[in-house]
Amino acid sequence: MLVLDRKPVIQAPASPVRPALDGIQAYKSGMTLAEAGRRTGRSQFSKLASNENLLGASPKVAAAVAAAIAEPELYPDPYCETLRAAIGGRLGVDPARVVVSPGSEALIDYLFRAVLHPGDAILFSSPTFPAYDIFARCAEARIVDVPRLANFDLDVPAFKAAAAQGPKLLVLCTPNNPTGNALTASDIEEILSVTPRSTLVFVDEAYREYHEAFDTFALLDAWGGPWVSARTFSKAYGLAGMRVGYGIASSAELVGYLDRLRPAFNVTAVSQAAALAAWDDQAHLARTVALTIAERGRIEAALDDLGVEHTRSEANFVFLRAPAGPDATAARLLQEGLIIRPTPVAGGWVRITIGRPADNDALIAALPAALAR
Ligand SMILES: *Cc1c(COP(=O)(O)O)cnc(C)c1O
Repeated sequence: MLVLDRKPVIQAPASPVRPALDGIQAYKSGMTLAEAGRRTGRSQFSKLASNENLLGASPKVAAAVAAAIAEPELYPDPYCETLRAAIGGRLGVDPARVVVSPGSEALIDYLFRAVLHPGDAILFSSPTFPAYDIFARCAEARIVDVPRLANFDLDVPAFKAAAAQGPKLLVLCTPNNPTGNALTASDIEEILSVTPRSTLVFVDEAYREYHEAFDTFALLDAWGGPWVSARTFSKAYGLAGMRVGYGIASSAELVGYLDRLRPAFNVTAVSQAAALAAWDDQAHLARTVALTIAERGRIEAALDDLGVEHTRSEANFVFLRAPAGPDATAARLLQEGLIIRPTPVAGGWVRITIGRPADNDALIAALPAALAR
């Protein structure tokens, strides 16, 4: 008897994943030290691609982390009560209006999921931080992107016209990543003056500590609609590896909604302890911010000497045009042990984090050759 060894025809199953995800590119982070090592065979690098604070966190963080890690069997406080009390206390807001998250990126995720229905409009201004686009697409929102002007300032009249339409969510990033430039209080007032109070305004202030030019909460409260201001321990506080961000919301009720959709134990006990120690050492923060700003001035002066076009950065990085192209420039600097961030911004721009003085010395020495056509 002939037995046919017939394999069943297996059809490729339809993807179980929502089609909205097909249109999204996963976030591309700065090059890791491991990858830089593989590419060059070097072992020492200046990591200037991710806006970390290479001057480091407060020395008090290490002891706080060691103490917190002694009880790894215990769940962390799901409401980060101690940290929220400390944040609210210094900022003069009710701790019930403070939300802590594993990085402010997670807060963007929570907020967008809480607010955006498929088809809702979200307004932002590119080039800017990619998370807004990613989480807006996840939510199947309608993206209204008002492009920045040639100097990367916000196109305030065009942005106002879009704001007046009453998007569900309006995003302002100041100082803006990757361009470094900041809004003024009057820019924000002008935009809010035409924004309906049915819009939720999200202000991303990840670089706030480098540019405390205005009282964001007062501007938003004067407007009177719902708002969230997001800040982070990843940049000036030097805790990017611990993943702690925080937000201030216009109401405790809004924080309560975010509590419903976030994972319960989302910020580890070690991270909470590290953030609290960093928060309590404002003298360290002030020293590192002052040094970073002074070093930024030194790098900008070197760029000016070379005749290199750059934005006016108010953050811990510079944003400059690389005539040889962003990828070629980044590759040349990598060979010198400098990891920087090429960007897809039209015209060929790169973003370079301000490092320690020795990192910046190496950068300034390498720039003329790296930027040559
Ligand atoms: C770095 C950054 C964040 C996110 O940082 P976290 O590490 O997730 O806190 C958010 N917004 C902007 C504009 C940033 O540059």
